[in-house]
Amino acid sequence: MKTVYLDNNATTRPAPEVIEAMMPFFTELWGNPSSMHAFGGQVARPLEAAREEVADFLGAEHPEEIVFNGCATEGDNHALFGVAAAWGKPGTIITSRVEHPAVLGPCLRLREMGHTVVEIGVDGEGLFDMAAYEAALAAHPGPKLVSVMWANNETGVLFPIRRIAELGKAAGATVHTDAVQAAGKVPIDVREAPVDLLTVAGHKMHAPKGVGVLYVRRGTRIKPYVIGGHQERGRRGGTENVPYIVGMGVACRLAKAALTDGSELRIARLRDKLEAGLLATCPDSRVNGSRTHRVPNTLNVSFEYIEGESVLYHLSDRGICASSGSACAAGSLEPSHVIRAMGVPFTAVHGSIRFSLSRYTTEEEIDYVLHHCPEVVAEMRALSPFVKHG
Ligand code: PLP
Repeated sequence: MKTVYLDNNATTRPAPEVIEAMMPFFTELWGNPSSMHAFGGQVARPLEAAREEVADFLGAEHPEEIVFNGCATEGDNHALFGVAAAWGKPGTIITSRVEHPAVLGPCLRLREMGHTVVEIGVDGEGLFDMAAYEAALAAHPGPKLVSVMWANNETGVLFPIRRIAELGKAAGATVHTDAVQAAGKVPIDVREAPVDLLTVAGHKMHAPKGVGVLYVRRGTRIKPYVIGGHQERGRRGGTENVPYIVGMGVACRLAKAALTDGSELRIARLRDKLEAGLLATCPDSRVNGSRTHRVPNTLNVSFEYIEGESVLYHLSDRGICASSGSACAAGSLEPSHVIRAMGVPFTAVHGSIRFSLSRYTTEEEIDYVLHHCPEVVAEMRALSPFVKHG
């Protein structure tokens, strides 16, 4: 059966160029970059070259501001626990209600540890409540960490990170952003958005799973989170995963090129075609999240009166891979915290589906979804107890 992969916010296909660049580091150049001997030492240079590629992609002034790690969850944990540990006393973490669990989970733990956590809400379009943020910055003296995502993983909605960072810095806060869903989709430049810390994941941008990056601006007070050897200038213990880091460097180079060669415009056009087609052919459907402040690859759509999960199963039967805005919690189908925070109407909350495209998505694939999805929705509606039948 044909596979149409529209779940790129979950993970992406590793680019062939990335895999090709990684291979020699499994077969021949498998030494340890920290070794004193020349065999190990010969992989230290490619490691540093990858660091330079990532620094260039993010607009970092110094390559040593790039700390390689295992995944975005680790990067987020490092940012939150590392900054709080450097305070050595209780402080305030200002975050948003729609962050990924990789941020909200540590926030919960930091609250248990005696820190204050303030969650800023969003409006019906998923846009950040700037007034509440400014009030929170003013209300909390003492050490502060702001951790607000650049783009939301479920809706693709973009937050005004530059302004958020400027205000945070002016209030004396350390500023972190989870840029996992923004990287490679919109330009990221830490010279323009003055964040201190920024998280990226390789596998969301065509590198493999198992490699991530925490950007740490020079001078930021942060303790290590994975404590061990002296690797990554003492900021992350553990022998560097050289093949994956090399792959990450190539993925950053490719992503930078894709941001200027029209790829993102093409992806946005395909996403908009999918959106317009679904709204036109599936009655009682609505887009969740702002349609103007959004990354180009993401469409979150609700089909009212039906369960997103059943739509997903039936799409999967036709080879279409998408994702639901809901998480299956302990046997009950709980709507996601993002959809709930936006106040999406009850009739639509359970029927939300996320389609996320990549530069490998083709027009033919979008046409295939537009052919099959309306019939799936119609079938589900015919069975729904919430829809009046004939
Ligand atoms: N942050 C965001 C915004 C994400 O979308 C994800 C993954 O979906 C993560 C963090 C965690 O990434 P990983 O599972 O690679 O650690």
